[in-house]
Amino acid sequence: MLNEKEREQLRAALNAEKQRLLRNAQEGLAFSMNRERNIGRDSIDESMEEELFSTELRLRDREKFLLGKIIGAIERLEANTINECEDCSEPIGVKRLLARPVTTLCIDCKEEREREELSQSEMHRGGGAASGDGEAADEAGGGEET
Ligand SMILES: [Zn+2]
Repeated sequence: MLNEKEREQLRAALNAEKQRLLRNAQEGLAFSMNRERNIGRDSIDESMEEELFSTELRLRDREKFLLGKIIGAIERLEANTINECEDCSEPIGVKRLLARPVTTLCIDCKEEREREELSQSEMHRGGGAASGDGEAADEAGGGEET
């Protein structure tokens, strides 16, 4: 169980993040309204504008997703279940919660999931050790660092 000070810290962190996302969403809305006003205007940059608009939409999808997580975390906070791991029901460490208030997993379950994801992506890669050189070359890119 979290103490009152910890709950207060979490609440403040979650509310700040929620406000930030809502502000971004409002800016996104202003952007699309602005775009509608511009319809009918001669535009030589139409394709660029389309691209900007779809970037904007993608961003808002991501924000919607994050906002959902934050609202869920606030609900769990009020219900006193925010530090309960959704996998094993063990308490999530306070430090971990404060660093990442939207988490729903304790560190053990989180690490286990990451290991699973890692082994899955290794399977997709076909386990080819020979691909190592190719990847290193990709990461070097234009050789800017050397
Ligand atoms: Zn767990």
